Amino acid sequence: MGCRHCGGVVNGTLGITQSLLRVRVLSQGAIKQRLEICRTCDQSVPCKHNKRQACKCIACGCWLKHKASLRRESCPKNKW
Ligand code: SF4
Repeated sequence: MGCRHCGGVVNGTLGITQSLLRVRVLSQGAIKQRLEICRTCDQSVPCKHNKRQACKCIACGCWLKHKASLRRESCPKNKW
C-alpha cells in the first residue's frame, strides 16, 4: 500500500487513514473534479468493477479514491 509520490508506506497508510477518518478531506465536488481528471489520464488504471472509474495511478502508485480526497495530496504530473 505504498506511494512513491507521497512518501512510501507510512505516508500512504497515513493518507488512507486520514481519508477514512475524513480528516483534511476535500468537498465531494472537488474530489469528483480530481477523479474526472484522473479518469481521462493515461497514467490511471480503471477499476475492475467499473471501467469508467479510475482506481489507481501508475505514476505514484496511489489508490485514487483516497489520494483525491486529501487536501494535501497533489498529482505527480501536475494535472491537479
Ligand atoms: S494523479 Fe495525476 S498522474 Fe495520476 S492518474 Fe490522476 S491525473 Fe493522472
